[in-house]
Amino acid sequence: MENTVKIGQRFPLTIKRLDINGAGIGYYKRKITFVTGALPEEVVVAEVTGIHERYLEAKVHRVKVPSKHRVTPVDPKYGQVGGIELGHLDYQAQLAFKRDVVAQALAKFKPTGWQHYDLRPTIGAADPLHYRNKAQFQVRSIDGHVRAGLYAPNSHDLVPLETFATQRPLTMQVINHLCGLLEQLDIPIYSERTNSGIVKTLVVRESAATSEAQLTLITNSEKLPHQARLLDAIARELPMVVTVMQNVNPGKTSLIWGAESHLLAGQPYITERIGDLDFQLSPQAFLQLNPAQTEVLYATARTALALAPHETLVDAYAGIGTIGLSLAHTAQAVRGMEVIPEAVADAQANALRNGITNAHYEVGTAETVLPKWLAEGFRPDAVIVDPPRAGLDGPFIQALLRARPKKFVYISCNPSTLARDLVALTRAYTVDYIQSIDMFPQTARCEAVVKFTRR
Ligand code: SAH
Repeated sequence: MENTVKIGQRFPLTIKRLDINGAGIGYYKRKITFVTGALPEEVVVAEVTGIHERYLEAKVHRVKVPSKHRVTPVDPKYGQVGGIELGHLDYQAQLAFKRDVVAQALAKFKPTGWQHYDLRPTIGAADPLHYRNKAQFQVRSIDGHVRAGLYAPNSHDLVPLETFATQRPLTMQVINHLCGLLEQLDIPIYSERTNSGIVKTLVVRESAATSEAQLTLITNSEKLPHQARLLDAIARELPMVVTVMQNVNPGKTSLIWGAESHLLAGQPYITERIGDLDFQLSPQAFLQLNPAQTEVLYATARTALALAPHETLVDAYAGIGTIGLSLAHTAQAVRGMEVIPEAVADAQANALRNGITNAHYEVGTAETVLPKWLAEGFRPDAVIVDPPRAGLDGPFIQALLRARPKKFVYISCNPSTLARDLVALTRAYTVDYIQSIDMFPQTARCEAVVKFTRR
């Protein structure tokens, strides 16, 4: 029967629900079919785009019966690039979807007590558009013009973008102006096909508080022709750009950033304000992408942690120290660890800058540094973790379960790895509640704060 399905084949399909990536799920002759762009309760004509042993992939050819939650996509490039995959779903329904993603992950991994967890309704953004403070756009020469944009899904075909529904306008302004300058100065643009040319990627980050911008040119080689003229023009025409960095990443590689960076002009960091504190931020360091929702996320984490003034806190996966430093005045002492040395240098500078003397940040992985601190006899009263999508490392969880801090909060940007980690964590902790927060409107990505109580 499967053999009879062909790429391009179309058939009507009733959509039952959304999967964790935001695709509609239907069953074609009992085979699970993921339909990009389809919504629950819709009847669509699906067109097969991929055939696999256990499932089919499809796109919407036509919507026969639309969902009442279907809206006109927010961006004209919807469907051509990632990052706005829920653009066809109204915002309230996007929020309901994100809570459901957490529920789906729990049902898959079944950590102790999962049926009874308090999954709170997702906290939405006041403005679900134009929130991203960072643009990481590929650059290509197309018909003699320098264009920047994102790749079409599962490809390296550039979709040029001059505006984008989720980007803050200043980031786009800098990108567009840069493309003009690169073209005017005839600076060689990288070509993947011939693996030649120089400029590959533009990374622009904006501080919402100061409107300072940070620019990194990622290049195929050390040399950057017409560098002096480029820097001159940036200084004159883009005064908000306070950092110009070059990062060298030679050849064809799936990694965007190379190992080597150097400052071409300006100062090495921009300043962002979160809560009452100022943070300096190096180009390599992580910062939350949605400034308004970052305040909400951190406030939620602070409430969940409920630190007392005599308590010690570990800020694991610390970035530039934003979480720990925000809490330092309510703690006896804060220690944090982070793998990126530039971010740790920022964290230390940020402590100084804000007059915080009870915080200490260290370079290293959470899974090596926490066991080391425990071996030295340090017993934190509270731990907050904010790992990347991969979640917590096994040895970190083991160390945490040994230390059994009284207070523990997990900020997760990936419900699947969160649910997996909860299987081990619930040996020592019960889950009080899971509060999802929408950090990435228009996307299927979901952030959640988990409050635990020690058993
Ligand atoms: N808490 C920060 C950063 C969170 S992002 C904030 O809110 O801004 C996750 C951070 O973990 C990144 O800065 C990343 O560089 C760091 N990281 C990744 N793997 C790590 C590991 N194994 N140990 C410690 N830090 C890690």
